[in-house]
Amino acid sequence: MSGLCIDGQCVIMYKYKFTVKDISMLTISPLFSGSKGNCTLIRSQTTDILLDLGYSYKATLTELARRNIAPQDIAAIVITHEHSDHIAALPLWSKYYRTPVYAPAPIADVIRMHACFADVRPFVCGAQIGDITVENYECFHDARCCYGYRFALSDDQIACVTDTGHWDDKLLRFLSPCRTIMLESNHDTDMLRSGNYPQALKIRIMSDYGHLSNAQTAQVLCALAGSQVKNVLLAHLSLNNNTKEIAFDSAVRACAAAGLVEGKDINLYVVDQYCNEVTIEQ
Ligand SMILES: [Zn+2]
Ligand SMILES: [Zn+2]
Repeated sequence: MSGLCIDGQCVIMYKYKFTVKDISMLTISPLFSGSKGNCTLIRSQTTDILLDLGYSYKATLTELARRNIAPQDIAAIVITHEHSDHIAALPLWSKYYRTPVYAPAPIADVIRMHACFADVRPFVCGAQIGDITVENYECFHDARCCYGYRFALSDDQIACVTDTGHWDDKLLRFLSPCRTIMLESNHDTDMLRSGNYPQALKIRIMSDYGHLSNAQTAQVLCALAGSQVKNVLLAHLSLNNNTKEIAFDSAVRACAAAGLVEGKDINLYVVDQYCNEVTIEQ
């Protein structure tokens, strides 16, 4: 069964609104996404997981409360990497709640130093958190270690991959069994080149260990034609070097070139930095 819904007043999805709700197994709700902070809620009927905790502690609690979730309900926090836009709220959270924190093994100590009260556990591929199985993909990023994750409950699979400078066949294999993916679409290369970032920062972002551009994300979507992927959330957009319209158009054109009609063969969404009201139900 599949369905989509939007649970609020601030719609960030372009072109249409879905209000259909079917029986769901796994859902994904991006709470915050972008260079100011990232946090995504993955839910089954019985298990709530936060992917990253990189925006304000208070705002995160507010977003959870709006969904009737208490912090104590969170079964685990899964961390992608040690950059502050992914862990900024972890020290405060772990001061009040003993939520297990899964982090890539090479950065477990870094996370412990950053959040000294946190119950940090090295992530092992195939980890079982409640009824959700979690697997990882190793990203190409200028962090000590950065993982994308895939969340599975029987046949339902959702993958989240951001903060990676380029893509490979392994990424395609990681994403292709999933019905829903959240994928980075960080910047428009022309906007970044002509913008006012220092040259060194531009080079870093465009490097093989920076972030995926809209064009690179478009290549991934083309390559995924024929896969199980039905819903795509374009995420981790740069506030300065991208717009939701440009990212969306780029993805729509890429899908069309691969014979996929947006809204029919594939559903595209753009995830906003602050105000995300979209929930994808498998
Ligand atoms: Zn990063
Ligand atoms: Zn990031």
